[in-house]
Amino acid sequence: MNKQKRYYFNYIDSCNMCGSKTDTHKILGKRLNASQGKSPNNKIGITTTIVKCTNCGLIYSNPQPVPFDIQDHYGVPPESYWKENYFTISNSYFQGEIERLKKLIDFKDGMKSLDIGAGLGKQMNALTKAGFNAYGFEPSKQFHERAISKMAIDPDKLKLGMIEEVEYAENYFDFISFGAVLEHLYNPSDSILKAMKWLKPNGIIHIEVPSSNWLIGKIINLFYKLKGIGYVGNLSPMHEPFHLYEFELKSFEEHAKRHNYELAFHEYYVCQTFMPKIADYILKPYMSWTNTGMQLCVWLRKR
Ligand SMILES: [Zn+2]
Repeated sequence: MNKQKRYYFNYIDSCNMCGSKTDTHKILGKRLNASQGKSPNNKIGITTTIVKCTNCGLIYSNPQPVPFDIQDHYGVPPESYWKENYFTISNSYFQGEIERLKKLIDFKDGMKSLDIGAGLGKQMNALTKAGFNAYGFEPSKQFHERAISKMAIDPDKLKLGMIEEVEYAENYFDFISFGAVLEHLYNPSDSILKAMKWLKPNGIIHIEVPSSNWLIGKIINLFYKLKGIGYVGNLSPMHEPFHLYEFELKSFEEHAKRHNYELAFHEYYVCQTFMPKIADYILKPYMSWTNTGMQLCVWLRKR
């Protein structure tokens, strides 16, 4: 799909998570509006600058490209996108997280949960089975429709809308999750605070995001540096999968200090290395040992 996208560019003057002024932040390099490959300097495109907050480690682009039409990023998937196996759920889906959650909250049957970016409602189904009264909302009309028609999600519990649009009562949920969502939002700080408002005191928010300390990302950047070109591989603000931020644990610690919550638990997931399989024998244990996995998972508790 080569549809032209039109952007405006927002100058960022303070870190979205910790509030520190951006004029002292570290410039990492340029990022093209397409997959870069080995020689991005031979490619035509628009670039923006990728910057890392020197206080909390948040990686962001400055200026930040924002599409005039958000549908250019998250438009309707084609009919060929839908495969039958998307609608089957493995029994292990979200089970590790539910186990962790039940250690963090004083679980009682019927506790209310909210899934932000519910997709096909798989997590809602898993939480319902685990005894929760599960709610969710989803910005994509197609996913919303299929969650109800193919996954038997209760339409009264699944709203259609973006986080900026939907509303719930204050102090309503015991558990809220952002799975693979926060890195796509232009204002992660405001989004966490909005969810905190919906959460009961002592309630838990679960967030999984790309880590700004991912070892493979650093190796890619070193490769570009050795080639003598000023590009980096972080983020994808103008092409799929449209990641706008990478986070460090400190991004949440600093944010927690400024707002009324605490970090109850965190862990890193190594995930894929995209390296030859033989290298995984060394890389995977090393990444696990040094907390340089691809994904960071944090559990926040409202005070
Ligand atoms: Zn920061």
